Parts: sequence; C-alpha cells; structure tokens
Amino acid sequence: MNLDAEKFGSPEFLSPLYQQALEQFYQGAHALDLSENIIARLKSPDRSMLVSLPIKMDNGTVQTFYGYRVQHNTALGPGKGGIRYHPSVTLGEVAALAMWMTWKGGLMNLPLGGAKGGISCDPKKMSARELEKLTRRYTSGIFPIIGPEIDVPAPDVGTNPQIMAWIMDTYSMQTGFHTMGVVTGKPQITGGSVGRLEATGLGVAYSIRNASQKCELSLEDAKVVIQGFGNVGYHAAKCLQAMGARVVAVSNSLGGVYNSNGLSIEALHKHAQTDRHLDHFGDADKITNEELLTLDCDILIPSAMENQVTGKNADKLKCKIYAEGSNGPTSLEGDQILQDRGIFIIPDILCNSGGVVVSYFEWVQGLQSFFWHIDEVYKRMDKIVSRAFDETHAMAQSKQVGMRQAALMIGIRRVAEAAEIRGLYP
Ligand code: GLU
Repeated sequence: MNLDAEKFGSPEFLSPLYQQALEQFYQGAHALDLSENIIARLKSPDRSMLVSLPIKMDNGTVQTFYGYRVQHNTALGPGKGGIRYHPSVTLGEVAALAMWMTWKGGLMNLPLGGAKGGISCDPKKMSARELEKLTRRYTSGIFPIIGPEIDVPAPDVGTNPQIMAWIMDTYSMQTGFHTMGVVTGKPQITGGSVGRLEATGLGVAYSIRNASQKCELSLEDAKVVIQGFGNVGYHAAKCLQAMGARVVAVSNSLGGVYNSNGLSIEALHKHAQTDRHLDHFGDADKITNEELLTLDCDILIPSAMENQVTGKNADKLKCKIYAEGSNGPTSLEGDQILQDRGIFIIPDILCNSGGVVVSYFEWVQGLQSFFWHIDEVYKRMDKIVSRAFDETHAMAQSKQVGMRQAALMIGIRRVAEAAEIRGLYP
C-alpha cells in the first residue's frame, strides 16, 4: 500500500516532523524542477508497518508496546536505517526519519534505499530481559518486510549492538539459516564491522574538519560544544579532541557541564557509565541544555533529539560551524535564521552519514563473509563522506543555495533518476 501523507489522515502520521521532512523535500524537488509525477511518487513512504507488541514484564504484568517500520523508498536498493527505542516514537516521526535516510543514501551514492523503525518505549526503565523480549517480538512482527535484500535495520537512539544481535538471532531462527546481512551495527563476534560503533561520531568530526577548511578556521584549540553525549556525541568529541580541538561543554537529557579550559572526554565518559548526572563530575560548571546551545564557541554539534534549534533560539547561537550530529535537530524556521546569519551549516544527511556508510560496509562484508581491516574502513568512509561534502559545497556555490538545500538536491536527484529509469510497475 502506498500511503499518501496528505490523504492518510492519521494525526500521528501527519506529525510536525513529517511535515518538516516533506517541506524540505518539496523545496529540493522544485529547485531540481522535478516533474509532478515523480514528486508524487517520492513524497510518500513505499511501505509502513505497525505492530503491537505484548510483553510479559518482570513483575508478571503484560504491557503492550507499539512498533513501526517504514520503508520510504527503495529505488536505489534495499531499505536501510536505524531502529529507535524512545517514548517519543510515533509512525509520523519514523516516516520522517525514513525519508531523510532515503536522501542520505542518495547523497552518499550508496546502493541503498531509506527506511527507519522504532518502538514507543523507555529503554532506560526496562530490564535487559524485558528489552530482549521486546526486541525479539518486534523482529518477528516485522519479519515479513526485513531481510538482507529487502530492508536492513541498524542502531539509532536507544538501541545498541546487543539489540542488533538479538534481531539477527531472531531472524536467523525464523528462517532456519544464519543471516548476518539482515542487520548492521552488530557486535563484531556476530559479524559486525570494525569501526561501526564510532562511525557516526567519526563522520561528524571528518565533516567538521572539511567545513573548517572551507571557513579557514583552525581546529587547533577551536572551542567545541556538544549537545548529547551518547554514541555520536562521545565519539565526535574524542575524535575532535584528537584533531586538536577543545571540547568545552557537553550535555545529555539531564543537563550538562562546562569548563572553558576543556573537558576530559574519557574521564567524563567513564563517569557517565555509572552516573548519568554529568554535573556530578567534578572540575566543571553545571549548565542547562538551553544554556549550552547559546554558549560562545566555534563549533556547535547538536547530537541529541529533533527540534532543538528553532525560531525561539536560533538567533542566540554563537557558533561559526553548526554540525548536525542528530537527525532533524533544526526546525525550518531555525534553519532559515542560521542561514541568514551566515553560520556554516553541515546538514544532518551529510554530517552524520558516517554511520550508514560503515553500515553499508558491514552489509557488504556480511554478504561476502570477508572482513576488512580497521584502516580500510576509516579510509573508505572518509573518502565517501568527504566526496559528498565537496559535491554539496560545489552545488551550494553553483546554485547559490544553502548547504542543506544542496545536500537534499543531490540526494533527491539520484533517487529520482533511479525511480525514473526503473519506470513504473506494472
Ligand atoms: N541510525 C543511523 C542514521 O540515522 C544509522 C543507520 C544505518 O546505519 O543504517 O543514519
């Protein structure tokens, strides 16, 4: 069934985030002068699935969760995209994130389409046993629409390699044969790629390195502020520090810490393993997430959730480079303000693409049962991410548009071209 966003009618589906993704698509599509036919084909997800997931909790009660998997477009290849476990997950949010995955795959020139999944739950409040049951039940729910040649999930907010291992195991048990290629971001012992865990954060750091060259900003002692200290924020911080930058503030959903002399990222990460209150970490001042966004810095990396920089606070940001580690952290209004102020924006589909690029490598390695060395993973990822950066920058210059519009135009153009050449079935 092809769901038409405007006719589907569900208020959940018509979420503000989906409207935002759709608006960005229209802007890119019109700038490319795409035909109305192709716009109509690309604006809605190809396939969406909603599964209800009754789970017996540790206390003996049964709780029913809702899970989703949306394949936005598969013109370039099988669906690809993460699975999110978070209380905010809705069909609309997942559909928006799936659409962005389509353009991200196109921009990176990967033979992959765009998809996303999620379960509305709070993994921080669940035991490992409950999470395993939920994951296995969800995997068997979406079993008919995933597979190495159909749609390949990966980690996202609230999920991790262990959860990917459970997905791979459940899928393999149901097919009756070992299926490494059904999921990426797995632990290495089960066929995960070296370098996948840090790939998204590393890709963010590589993109910032590329942007700093265009802005003639030295990374040596550049002041970096990071919102979100999960897998993306932590690895971006570590890599930027290794490049000579000074990470002065980080936060998670509970708040953040600031030290103008720079934070010890390793020590803070170690602290966060046992205590999520970052402000309990000594040698730094406590700050709120709102304060953190408006700190004076060279580079700001939103790597938490959507909609953090909006019309309300975009005029207060003080960074030179704004690097989107998360998907959709900037509202349409916020984006326009940042652009008008001349801040160098590295849009999400470019900035955080290191993750899906190394997922692609993991998928390829799994299909061949032949595994690469870490140097090869990093080198090839840097090459793909940096080529996309240069293409985006060149497009922004030649068409006189912002980096986001340019990135979307490249991604959308590749998908549209493939859809056009493949033609319509039947
Ligand atoms: N969830 C990540 C993203 O948003 C990774 C997706 C993947 O590796 O398939 O790009």
